[in-house]
Amino acid sequence: MNYQAILEEIREEIKPLFQKGKVADYIPALGRVDPTHFAMSLQLFDGTTFGVGDVDCKFSIQSISKVFTYSMAISLYQKTLHKRLWHEPSGNPFNSLVQLEHEKGIPRNPFINAGAIVITDILRSKYKDQTFSKIINFIKDIGNDENIDYDKEIALSEIKTGFRNMALVNMMKSFKNISNEIKDVMQIYFKQCSISMSSKQLSRAMLYLANHGIDPITKKEFLTSSQAKRLNSLMLTCGHYDASGDFAFRVGLPGKSGVGGGIVAIVPDLMSICVWSPKLNKKGNSLVGTKALELFTTKTGLSIF
Ligand code: GLN
Repeated sequence: MNYQAILEEIREEIKPLFQKGKVADYIPALGRVDPTHFAMSLQLFDGTTFGVGDVDCKFSIQSISKVFTYSMAISLYQKTLHKRLWHEPSGNPFNSLVQLEHEKGIPRNPFINAGAIVITDILRSKYKDQTFSKIINFIKDIGNDENIDYDKEIALSEIKTGFRNMALVNMMKSFKNISNEIKDVMQIYFKQCSISMSSKQLSRAMLYLANHGIDPITKKEFLTSSQAKRLNSLMLTCGHYDASGDFAFRVGLPGKSGVGGGIVAIVPDLMSICVWSPKLNKKGNSLVGTKALELFTTKTGLSIF
């Protein structure tokens, strides 16, 4: 298959959509991103990459970081994680409070904010003051790339304006589902959301999920095959918050989005993909990115169904 030609075609076809959507300005530093950026990268098992657009331009990975932190937590605590959070789609926005109170501080899944904050708390209990460096080193290892860091301006902007996230963590603390000091957990959470990576780096870093938990290039095992299956299942059912069903319907691949405008998607046994376009739809997922992935699976016939 001529992947490069398909990516070029997609780049042409999505052009009219650039008028639509809105960047995530509820985090002021994110609102300053140039909304015209577009990048799409594919990574195959033999190291071959294909890409169009700003494939080396770094952006804020935001909730895509939740895939990495959940990978760390599931490999440490597979048997006990279910006591702290579930594996169900929330059907609610990523930062919703309503369901969390009703369900006594147990988040629906690790890919909404409340669930990711619990995961950060779990990692903090294990790694203490080393937690953020463990997270970033894990991502460097998984991406086989030392050149990965977080954006201090975005992290600070999130700390200053993350009122909803503070409400979520306080609510969970009141239900005894947060063990550490709130400020310690949230500093790590905001930093992990502010990690900057390019679409090329992200597509490379996700390859382990396309290959049953083992990086096909370095041969390092990050998850067992069963854990990788679980993570992919969660991405399919919960990776796009209350638009997860729509994403599965349109794209047909496990995927995870972030409000920085990035989306990663997995084609099992074949490749990982990352697309980036900062303007979001009403559910907080990249508008052009979702369409680009839909076009990709339609044109290639590659989907898990
Ligand atoms: N840092 C963002 C927040 O906590 C992450 C949300 C997202 O990417 N959906 O609000």
